[in-house]
Amino acid sequence: MAAETTQHWRGELKLDEPMGGHTSWRAGGRARRFYKPADIDDLCEFMAGLDASEPLLWLGLGSNLLVRDGGFPGTVIFTFGALTEMRWIDGQTVHVGAGMSCSKVARTTAREGLVGAEFLAGIPGTMGGALAMNAGAFDGETWAHVSAVDTIDRAGVVHTRLPSEYRIAYRSVEGVPEEWFLGATLALRHGDAEAARERIQELLARRSASQPTQQPSCGSVFRNPPGDHAARLIEATGLKGLARGGAQVSEKHANFIVNTGSATATEIEALINEVQERVEQAQGIRLEREVRIVGERPAS
Ligand SMILES: Cc1cc2nc3c(=O)[nH]c(=O)nc-3n(C[C@H](O)[C@H](O)[C@H](O)COP(=O)(O)OP(=O)(O)OC[C@H]3O[C@@H](n4cnc5c(N)ncnc54)[C@H](O)[C@@H]3O)c2cc1C
Repeated sequence: MAAETTQHWRGELKLDEPMGGHTSWRAGGRARRFYKPADIDDLCEFMAGLDASEPLLWLGLGSNLLVRDGGFPGTVIFTFGALTEMRWIDGQTVHVGAGMSCSKVARTTAREGLVGAEFLAGIPGTMGGALAMNAGAFDGETWAHVSAVDTIDRAGVVHTRLPSEYRIAYRSVEGVPEEWFLGATLALRHGDAEAARERIQELLARRSASQPTQQPSCGSVFRNPPGDHAARLIEATGLKGLARGGAQVSEKHANFIVNTGSATATEIEALINEVQERVEQAQGIRLEREVRIVGERPAS
């Protein structure tokens, strides 16, 4: 860890930060620089001071991200626990910072008697990650509840944008390149607080019955192809339990790859590629990856 001497910003900068500690696969290389902003004004200042060619990686809870073992040769902007403002606009509209966890958004809105965001309870990421991925579960999808987002660009300028400015699909969001989410305004509906809390408990129970929630993973590795399920295709190919080093196709849910203890990012990526190829050979369908892979391969 080191601090730069000519800094104007107030956040925390670390050098050579191991990303295994910030990703739910618990594997991966180091980030050259890792910045946790103090607040949005501070982040604007930090971004404005960045070199135009600096590679940037925005990071929430790293629950959909694999950083290769060679590390990330740029700056990680770490939002979790940093951009956590939650501001009520009216009784059913709330602005949520990108660094707030999805589970907290679900629990807080349910407590206020609002319905619609319960599905977020079991998604182990941040609001920023949910916006970037259009995270969803059990028929709920993030962008179905978004009425506006705040973004920041490379120059540190903040913009307010409408959903109509994005191309939004299943686990896919395309908007203005080189803009990142600072927060979202969510429009929810009035309902019964007790019923919303019960719905959260029910969804969490369904999740732990069907997913290996006790082992490090990134959730579903592949998107479901239209009309089918990636897990069904992987299981039908006979790949449940397949292991490469410490990475294994989960016995509980075939679309999860778990770290059984000592997996490297290289082993996880090799297993992802092998599953993709073997499913294509056996089933004639090329699965599309949902998890994001970034960074450099280790020098051999
Ligand atoms: C056990 C388990 C269960 C899961 N279940 C589900 C599920 O039911 N449904 C589902 O959709 N997903 C699920 N996931 C995957 C994951 O939790 C989601 O994709 C989540 O939205 C990722 O959020 P994050 O904060 O961890 O993002 P990260 O993993 O940190 O980042 C994911 C991507 O978003 C980008 N990003 C992050 N923050 C920002 C930002 N502020 N602005 C712009 N880009 C940003 C990153 O650069 C990266 O490309 C699961 C994962 C696990 C481990």
